Amino acid sequence: MESDLTPMMRQYLDIKEKNRDAILFFRLGDFYEMFFDDAVEASRILHITLTSRGTGKTGKIPMCGIPHHAASNYIARLIHNGRKVAICEQVEEPGPGKKLVERAITRIITPGTFIADEILDGAVNNYILAICARDGRFGLAYADLSTGEFKATEIPDKESVFPEMYKISPSELLMQESFISTRDFKDITSVNTGSVSIVDDWMFDHELSAKELKRQFSVNNLEGFGLTGQTPAVNAAGALLKYLKNTQKIELNNIDRITVYNVSEYMVLDRNSQRHLELIQNQDDLSTKGTLYDVLDMTTTPMGKRKLKKWVLNPMLDYNKINERLDAVGFFFSNADIRKKVRTLLSEVYDIERLSNKVSMASANARDLLALASSLESVEKLKHVLNGELPSLMDKAVSGMDDFSGVTRMIRESIVDNPPVTIKEGGIIKKGHDAELDELLDIVSGGKDWITGLQKKEIERTGISSLKVGYNRVFGYYIEVTKANLKDVPDDYMRKQTLVNAERFITEELKEHESRIVGAADRSKNMEYSIFCGIRDEIGRKIDKLKELSEIVAGIDVISDLAEVAVVNGYNRPVVSPSSGLEIRQGRHPVLEKILKDKEFVPNDVRMDDDNRIFIITGSNMAGKSTFIRQVALITIMAQMGSFVPADEARIGLVDRVFTRVGASDRLYHGMSTFMVEMIETANILNNATAMSLIILDEIGRGTSTFDGVSIAWSVVEFIHHYLMGAKAMFATHYHELTELAGIMEGVKNYHLEVQEWGEDIVFLYKVAEGVCDESFGIHVARLAGMPQEVVARARSILANLQKDSLLGSIRSKFAGKTAEQEKQLDFFTYNAGKFPLLDEIKGLDLDRMTPIDALSKLSELKNKAEGR
Ligand code: ADP
Ligand code: MG
Repeated sequence: MESDLTPMMRQYLDIKEKNRDAILFFRLGDFYEMFFDDAVEASRILHITLTSRGTGKTGKIPMCGIPHHAASNYIARLIHNGRKVAICEQVEEPGPGKKLVERAITRIITPGTFIADEILDGAVNNYILAICARDGRFGLAYADLSTGEFKATEIPDKESVFPEMYKISPSELLMQESFISTRDFKDITSVNTGSVSIVDDWMFDHELSAKELKRQFSVNNLEGFGLTGQTPAVNAAGALLKYLKNTQKIELNNIDRITVYNVSEYMVLDRNSQRHLELIQNQDDLSTKGTLYDVLDMTTTPMGKRKLKKWVLNPMLDYNKINERLDAVGFFFSNADIRKKVRTLLSEVYDIERLSNKVSMASANARDLLALASSLESVEKLKHVLNGELPSLMDKAVSGMDDFSGVTRMIRESIVDNPPVTIKEGGIIKKGHDAELDELLDIVSGGKDWITGLQKKEIERTGISSLKVGYNRVFGYYIEVTKANLKDVPDDYMRKQTLVNAERFITEELKEHESRIVGAADRSKNMEYSIFCGIRDEIGRKIDKLKELSEIVAGIDVISDLAEVAVVNGYNRPVVSPSSGLEIRQGRHPVLEKILKDKEFVPNDVRMDDDNRIFIITGSNMAGKSTFIRQVALITIMAQMGSFVPADEARIGLVDRVFTRVGASDRLYHGMSTFMVEMIETANILNNATAMSLIILDEIGRGTSTFDGVSIAWSVVEFIHHYLMGAKAMFATHYHELTELAGIMEGVKNYHLEVQEWGEDIVFLYKVAEGVCDESFGIHVARLAGMPQEVVARARSILANLQKDSLLGSIRSKFAGKTAEQEKQLDFFTYNAGKFPLLDEIKGLDLDRMTPIDALSKLSELKNKAEGR
């Protein structure tokens, strides 16, 4: 069939063959055309008409097309649908004759490399992440092409890869082909949020990767970046860099360093905790509305917004660093004047990170340079505002800012105040910047005066008052005479073009002038362009310093933001220390207190330490249990990210992980059995929590039958108590049986949320108090609802019976029967039978025949004996 195709279609198929995983945009004149399956798919996604091309032996080829100037929106839509787009351009000017124009791929746009300015949200990063697994270790490398950020880390176990992946939330995940068949691949892709791209194994080769990185950063070895022995991280980073170059087809000057970090410096917040606590995404529509980030975001720059998000997801573990941040926030908190000035100046700063990135990728236009200049000027002023006594973090920030007056001056002296968007059509360089350019521009503008003069002269000569001298791009200069006046046209006019109502002419004089002016205009445009590129390249050489600056400015933005938020919302500075306690006085839920409109948020106290480390929290539906336990988690996270907290006082002992799980019936999941999901999540906590963790469990065990659920819940608490010594846990539950645990295990305490009957109503007080809540609350509500007296009375007596059984009677011993610990002890006792007469006496007791009173007096007797009395 090949031979039946036109040469162009053969060219198309050749190129398509090499780019099978992308939709090919094939440039034909002013359009990008798609053919075959690409056309069918794209027309469906983009809602554009599917047509066809060709007849006869080849049959009809499906095709569709889009105008090239509107491409970026269409590309964005395909990318959002997880597709890649390969852009194929005409790489030579179409010449005369029917010769086939040469075409080539100029760029491949993928979800993780998409950086169209007008479509990317300034507040979010667009990451592409490469993962390499080797000998059970995982190397992660990720980049944002729109900012030039390039980071890598190495993680020793798979479990820790997941939370990190979720924090990064890449739009595209890059892995090698041989990885597909592994179990790790399955696990990793199952938590992946973006599309997956598979490349050949050699891309991840260690030697090649190391070489690629060294070449990119012009270094002899990678030790300076902290990449010693980090094999999988090097492989991932090298592969990612190669992939970016292969797709972008340009030198990536904007990627000038790699930052290697260690995940163990940050609090682990796994995917479910990030979700349940709604840190940066809410559970309803996945937007930022109603999230912790949303409440904390009063930043004024886009890089500040991006940084704040990273801080929310990465609370720190080093209390010195945390306190350094808190000091800095405190400085702005108490210096309102400086804070206001700094924030005003910052509000005039554009996205320096993306602007300088565009400069180094040679895609910045004249407006971008002006935006950069004015940002740098504001930063300069910022330096002067921050000149007195500063906390260490601010001191480092200010002294780390380079002097950019040279850059600003260069831009201000060369670029006009209101340049056009395009940089190839002139009109961007100031007069007086370049003598040669000025001369050309004089000819061009002088030419315009000359035209006015010519028109006047020709009107006088011919007596045609409506005669006009004009210019258009296709035909050049002309003299236009309306049809009615054609009789007065002199002999030296040469006909050029015929319109409906007029004729256009040219004269020798005009022709000569035209070539002079058009030549000058073209030359001046080219010259402006090259002057502009020169300036841009020169600034591009400062990319590393500019990036440092934008990091610092983003940091100042977030710090002053946190101070502003603290003032506005009435937060206070927490005391963070490497202890295990946790004490919050008058704590509030940062998000809910903002959402509540018609009522006041009720603050609550918490105090956890070694003797009070597991809280069983009961209370009726809607009493405020979930809110309370989440607020403890959120306050802890805020404190460790260096923020002030919604509480009168807070003492936070460092927490290495915050786990949050929500029982199946409290949340609707899709697909998988909800109870299964709940159990997987809980298993994950128990397997990964440490003595330094904070565990928040909300109605765990609810998704199954009562006995089943309460048994699981009970043993989960027991496990935390026995095996996670030191871990703090809060367990909101409606299983009253669990409150029995407080009497059995040290450190377990009961709390409940108070309610009050108020005339015909039940009032929620939202106050946390010690002890167990009233279990007859439901009956209470039934009574208020007007149930017949008989039903209420009968329900009360059934409840009393049940309670006798479950709380005071045999159920207690059933639950408490054999904990793992007691099993061990039991073994000990069995082994030592006969040696201890007391044991034999205990064994001989017939508990079933004893009344509680008998049991108690027997117990007292035994105790006396044991104490030797
Ligand atoms: P539960 O988990 O006990 O069913 P929630 O924590 O979900 O209850 O709270 C239910 C509702 O009660 C919340 O949506 C909020 O409107 C209100 N609420 C909870 N805690 C407070 C509080 N401390 N102050 C004021 N209103 C609260
Ligand atoms: Mg709840």
